[in-house]
Amino acid sequence: MFDQYNRNINYLRISVTDRCNLRCRYCMPEEGVCMLKHEEIMTYEEIRDVVSVAVPLGVNKIRLTGGEPLVRKDIVELVSMIASVPGVKDIAMTTNGILLERFAAPLAKAGLHRVNVSLDTVDATKFHEVTRGGDIKQVFRGIEAAREAGLSPIKVNCVVKEDANRSDAAEVDLYCRENGLEGRFIPEMDLKTGHFGIVQGGSGGDCTHCNRLRLTSNGKMKPCLFSDLEFDIRELGIKKAMEMALLVKPEKGTVNLSNCFHNIGG
Ligand code: SAM
Ligand code: SF4
Repeated sequence: MFDQYNRNINYLRISVTDRCNLRCRYCMPEEGVCMLKHEEIMTYEEIRDVVSVAVPLGVNKIRLTGGEPLVRKDIVELVSMIASVPGVKDIAMTTNGILLERFAAPLAKAGLHRVNVSLDTVDATKFHEVTRGGDIKQVFRGIEAAREAGLSPIKVNCVVKEDANRSDAAEVDLYCRENGLEGRFIPEMDLKTGHFGIVQGGSGGDCTHCNRLRLTSNGKMKPCLFSDLEFDIRELGIKKAMEMALLVKPEKGTVNLSNCFHNIGG
């Protein structure tokens, strides 16, 4: 499906939860956030239905994100439900990797193709600091498990602050090169001020080539990460919500005062 700027929209990013087992400083306050009520979160059947409606409209790539997708119960089941929808060519997940060691093999078996693991530093102490408590060894083990499970490519998402952690990014880059991983370097963004930039090594942040729609964990279809517009799949129906989001997809992102990274997904 093409938007009004002739961009071919074939990619849907789905946030499956607003919960997370880390508290990264640039994403979540230490005390956590006001969580959505259980009944507000989309069920797996609803998510499967969204995918089933999206595919005939032209979507063939799905990414599961969060919050942390691996903290949602029975996430492997959701992957196999999505994989069973005819026409889905690519299923990816963005994860902090903490629980990946346990889930990589079952996820691959269920139909997950590839994974992006977030890692801003390879230094255990700094990782613990930036994630407010994360154990980097679990992430390294998760990446190895993803490799053994055949998930490919494995990409590493590294958020780079304006100046502070350039050397961390350089070390992450080296770690990626030495381990056959694809590094993606994401400038730290601010949804509220509209501050965003091009992702080095990836496609994010480049509005002219954007091919995405997004779905929040409570079922709001969004035309853009940096937009306040959203269309409720429960109120409007899936197809209508998706068509309306497509219709108003902006040429360029502006600001998003309604969401945070942990509930829309990065
Ligand atoms: N919990 C998973 C993870 O961390 O990979 C998935 C959700 S997280 C919100 C998705 C991506 O958004 C991560 O790669 C994270 O680093 C990125 N992200 C979060 N806050 C960000 C910010 N302020 N600027 C740029 N990227 C951000
Ligand atoms: Fe959690 Fe991912 Fe946000 Fe970190 S970036 S707090 S892991 S959702």
